[in-house]
Amino acid sequence: MEATVALGGNPNSGKTTLFNGLTGSRQHVGNYPGVTVDKKEGIYAYNGYKMHIVDLPGTYSLTAYSEEEVVARDFLVSEKPEVTIDIVDASNLERNLYLTVQLLELGVPSCVALNMMDVAKNRGIEIDTKKLSDLLAVPVLPVIARTGQGRQELMDSAAEVAKTKQKQEPLEISYGQDLDGVIRQMQDDIEKNRFMTECYPSRWIAIKYLENDEQILKKGQEANPSLAARLEKKVEKISHHLQRTLDTYPEAMIADYRYGYISSLLRQDDVFHQKYDKNRLYVSDKIDRVLTNRFMGPIIMLLILMGLYHFTFTYSETPVGWTENFFGWLADTVSANLPDGLLQSLIVSGIIDGVGGVMGFAPLIMFMFFGIALLEDSGYLARVAFMLDRVFKMFGLHGSSVMAYIVSGGIAGGCAVPGVMATRTLRSPRERLATLLTAPFMNCGAKLPVFALLIAAFFSENEAMMMFILTLIAWGGALIVAKILRLTIIKGEATPFVMELPPYRLPTFKGLMIHTWELTWQYIKKAGTIILGISVLLWAMMTFPGLPESETEKFEGKREAVKAAVSGSVVQELEFADQDTQLSLDALALTQQLSEIDAQESETALRYSAAGRIGTALESVTKLAGFDWRTNIALVGGFAAKEVVVSTLGTAYSLGEVDPEEYTSLAQRLAASPNWNPLVAISLMIFTVFYAPCFVAVVCIAKEAGSWKWGAFSMIFNTALAFGLSVLVFQIGSLI
Ligand code: GDP
Ligand code: MG
Repeated sequence: MEATVALGGNPNSGKTTLFNGLTGSRQHVGNYPGVTVDKKEGIYAYNGYKMHIVDLPGTYSLTAYSEEEVVARDFLVSEKPEVTIDIVDASNLERNLYLTVQLLELGVPSCVALNMMDVAKNRGIEIDTKKLSDLLAVPVLPVIARTGQGRQELMDSAAEVAKTKQKQEPLEISYGQDLDGVIRQMQDDIEKNRFMTECYPSRWIAIKYLENDEQILKKGQEANPSLAARLEKKVEKISHHLQRTLDTYPEAMIADYRYGYISSLLRQDDVFHQKYDKNRLYVSDKIDRVLTNRFMGPIIMLLILMGLYHFTFTYSETPVGWTENFFGWLADTVSANLPDGLLQSLIVSGIIDGVGGVMGFAPLIMFMFFGIALLEDSGYLARVAFMLDRVFKMFGLHGSSVMAYIVSGGIAGGCAVPGVMATRTLRSPRERLATLLTAPFMNCGAKLPVFALLIAAFFSENEAMMMFILTLIAWGGALIVAKILRLTIIKGEATPFVMELPPYRLPTFKGLMIHTWELTWQYIKKAGTIILGISVLLWAMMTFPGLPESETEKFEGKREAVKAAVSGSVVQELEFADQDTQLSLDALALTQQLSEIDAQESETALRYSAAGRIGTALESVTKLAGFDWRTNIALVGGFAAKEVVVSTLGTAYSLGEVDPEEYTSLAQRLAASPNWNPLVAISLMIFTVFYAPCFVAVVCIAKEAGSWKWGAFSMIFNTALAFGLSVLVFQIGSLI
């Protein structure tokens, strides 16, 4: 059997030395077709194999900057050598791995020769080749090309790869949230159209577009002009975005993340260790000595988290008050100017109280997003993932699950949809599935207003603390469920992997503002569209069918009865009174009685409506967790989107019970309602953390997990879990 073996590596890594050692006299030198770059070829006969060895030109990278790089890349792609030996200078490991990572991203079957081990040893460098090999998922062999030491073992490994690895899975590195999203979209488009995919991995093509790779851009235009234009347009858009927010461009960002990947790869479990360290420390490393310190790191992390919540709740209080007052005023004004009836009810109870309830928290969301943007743009969030890696492994997950959790709302205010999609960077299917099934437990932006509402109503003294506890509950629950899943239905070994550590950056104020605004705008837009639609739908369900005439007559009769019980002059006084009139005591008593009857009537009407019937039917079960029928209506609505819990409570409490004029905000209405107390609020918050992901997230889970089974699983399992926990909390709480 014959095999072609390519030798790749940085200039001066010892390629020629190894090549000569392997091929002896059986070599010849020519040129690559069309260019004046040396092409050296030779034969290495081995164990019945005949290996054609090709010494590729030395390069630091696989971009298209130099002729050498293009030649090396084209050779790998078009000649498809059975195996590529990547020669790495062990005494300069970090810099040399930059090329290695790119070879792995290209997905060529390869093995790594750690050359110059003698030099490395003299410099006090120790490298755990076994771990490095596990992390890179390719063989790593130590050699000393000059003496020939380790050459035989290297060639054994190379032969093994050539025999078994027809196709190497390309390495996937995360390039940060902004780029990863775009890369995925481009990748989908590329795969759907089979755009140059016979030569290159789809993700690689997308990355080359982002890197503005001239050769790929040109080939792309020839292969499929309209798709190429589409991709270029995407790149232009994200470039502009990065320029504005982070003052950088995709190429630089990609290089940063690649270096970050390598630097964290070497820090992983002491893969790389230098006993006498002569290298100077970089600023990022210095900061990391403190922030990711084994003992100080986690403490600082929790303090930062508490600080974030404190900041959010303290400073957002005033503007949240303003928006609440605004919606209160709007509702009053509309009620005063529209005649009583269905239209008024739709606009005031359905739209203003429903959407306003959600919209009212927009300032809080904005402050929260600002804090998170600060943590993310500075590079701190990546450190959080890095530190939690050890913990996550204990629960059968990966360090990169942390990122999926954070995107889903691990700190607060994310969304499970991109979170579930972010699990695509996980290489092992089991950890990936466990992560995407548990990510929806995080406190996404839609749960936030629910918490904010209940915290404001019942725990206004300890806002930051409550939010902190809810965060711990979400993470604890997610980890425990993940562990249970990994021990039962998703059993299997963990796969090694590497976390990326981008360098710290000083966030720009403008960038922070843009990020904050983008996220806040999404929230507002959702409230104004989807939530508005669902609010109106739920309002209709809470209004129709209306009470039958026999029932309304009953209430009319009651009204007549109380009026008849007082003297006619009092009734007259009420009829002619306007807002400024001083009423007599008798008239006041009559108003009181009449509004009680009104409240009774609207409550009866709400119970009679479609939604009310559902809520009432569920009440016999849900009262175990402390939820009354009104809350049930809200929770059923929450299956569509969690914000709806707030908007529905807004509508339900505006349609009945407590006198709406007395309490302007929903939080006040809840605090005053006899069916509510802090324990019910806690039970409801627990339920909200754990119950079924919203509809869009369920679709996404089913899609990403590759089966509707998992979508259904997360709806049923999560809801059952949530209910079980709420009942537990409520029952134990009631005893105390
Ligand atoms: P190329 O540019 O990758 O072809 O590298 P060369 O093969 O020309 O090697 C560059 C230099 O490193 C030469 O001086 C080699 O003698 C030296 N060299 C190569 N391999 C080793 C090794 O394993 N140990 C030591 N100490 N020197 C080496
Ligand atoms: Mg050379």
